[in-house]
This record gives sequence, structure tokens and C-alpha cells, in this order.
Amino acid sequence: MRPEDLLCPTPAGLWSKAGGFHIDPTRPVERALITHGHSDHARAGHGAVLATGQTLRIMAARYGEAFTAARQEAVLGEAMRIGDATVTFQPAGHVLGSAQIAVESGGLRIVASGDYKRGPDPTCLPFVPIPCDIFITEATFGLPVFRHPPAEHEIGKLIASLDQFPERAHLVGAYSLGKAQRVIRTLRDEGYDRTIFLHGSMDKLCRLYEDEGVALGPLAPATVATGKKGDFAGAVIVCPPSEIAERWARRFPDPVAAYASGWMRIRQRAKQANVELPLILSDHADWDELIDTITELAPGEVWVTHGREEALVRWCALNGIAARPLHMVGYEDETD
Ligand SMILES: [Zn+2]
Repeated sequence: MRPEDLLCPTPAGLWSKAGGFHIDPTRPVERALITHGHSDHARAGHGAVLATGQTLRIMAARYGEAFTAARQEAVLGEAMRIGDATVTFQPAGHVLGSAQIAVESGGLRIVASGDYKRGPDPTCLPFVPIPCDIFITEATFGLPVFRHPPAEHEIGKLIASLDQFPERAHLVGAYSLGKAQRVIRTLRDEGYDRTIFLHGSMDKLCRLYEDEGVALGPLAPATVATGKKGDFAGAVIVCPPSEIAERWARRFPDPVAAYASGWMRIRQRAKQANVELPLILSDHADWDELIDTITELAPGEVWVTHGREEALVRWCALNGIAARPLHMVGYEDETD
């Protein structure tokens, strides 16, 4: 079988002619296989969706139960036959429920890894390396400048700031699926046991994480309707990144604007977003993780879907690995 009959890039997303399905389609299709619940990968309106149970529940929480006409749960590690292809989901270490999808037929195996990371994350299963002929990788942070420090180091900066400024509220901008829960869980692991306050848009997914067994400790809504501004002195409030420097933030006492994102490595980005306390915390592989993963898998070929594709493709070429950029559009990297 030719690789492009097994998986090939199309404007709607990765298409498998052999299996008759798309992976993470960016427009409505008949049959979608979804790697994880982030909105650029998991969209509503497909005829049928195959994904892990956690991803299906995340999609239902975000889009409502009618997000797809038909749904089927993929069990991690269990091979399934679809058309002339066999597909297997394995953990990607990105967010709760995230999976890589191995697609094979006629002795050829291609792994679409979706978004992934290799660093530890107490809120989801770790990445499982799958030997393959072609490895399809993202490259959101595919430049040598991107190196993510350990999560506990970054959360330690937040705890140090809380100690230093006990009168100030600490607003932590974090994407609502994955990052927010990882920030909260890592705070708990580092010994922070006070109530953490949530912006209204965080509530649903935090509850879903708890239902899935990720304990987040005492949480409360960040509403001032029932209390005084001073109640939030020295408190941690987790909110969407877009809110940290907006009017919403001014209800809290002398807020420290923090932002948990891999982009906080870039000082200019932190400055532009009026971030006082940048926390370099990413759910995507950094440069070292990308090249370590490719080195470990030693695939015959690497396809790079989105992000900083050129640097990674060039690294592959210099290291004797055939690689090509797929230039896929519709996968935003702002969420990290
Ligand atoms: Zn993602």
C-alpha cells in the first residue's frame, strides 16, 4: 500500500482512503477519528466520531450531547478494523483523554500523534511510543529556543509570589482544557491546599476532570457578588488568558497577572499580554522532546503537520531521516 492511500493531508484534515475516515477534521465529515478535545482538533457536526471515552465526554461537555450523530469509544491499546485499515489509540500525554492514532494496512504503519508531550503530567496518561514507518508530528514549539522547564519549577514561582505578596490576588491565565487542571493539580502536589477560585468558564471541565479521577482539591467560583474584594487577598484565581488584563480582573485586589503557557518563554509575548508573572508551562513537546521522540522511534519518515515545521524538517534531514512539512491549516497554537 502507498502511504498516501493510508493517510494523506487534505483541506479537511488527514484523510485515510483505506479506512474511509478523517483524523481531527477541520470541517464536518462523515467519519472522524479525534485525537483529543481541544477545539481545533475536536469540532462538532461530524456524522460519526471515534475517540477515547474521555475525549467523547469532553466533547459532550463543550458542545452538548448532540455534537455528533453517532459516537464510538476507542479503548486504548485495542486494535479496531475500519474499512481496509486497522487503527489503535494510545496515550499522547497532552491532556485528559488525548491519544495518538496508529493507522495500518498491508504491513505499513503510520502514527498520527495529534498534540503530545513527554514531560510528566499528573492529569493524564503518559505518551506511549509506537514503533512506526511514518511518524506524524506537530511542531508547535519546533525551534531550539523552546525548552520547557519542569512544571514544579514554574508553579514554585507562583507559590513564591504568593508568599511575597500576601495582599494581592494572583490571576493565573490558563487554557480551560488541560492547562487549568494541570496548574491546579501541580499546585496541590507542591503543597498548596487553600481554596482555588475559578472563572465561570473553568467550572465544567474542572468537574469533568474530578469525575475522571483527577483530584483538584477545594475549588470555589471567583465571584465577588457574595463577598468583598478583600476576600481574594492572596488568593489564586484561575481564568482564561484573555481575562488576566481585562476589566474582569479589576474586581480583585491589586492583581498579579500570571499566564501559564509555553509561549511565556518569549519575553515579548509576556510583555504584550501585560503579564507580570510568566509561567512557562506547556502541554506540547518542546524542541528536545520533539527530537528525542523522533530519535527514539527512528521512523522511516517524519511528516510535520503544523507549527514551526521548517526547523524540525531540517533537523531530520541533517540526521538522515526523510521528512516533509504537511502545512496543515486550522490547528491553532494559541491555546498553549
Ligand atoms: Zn491540543
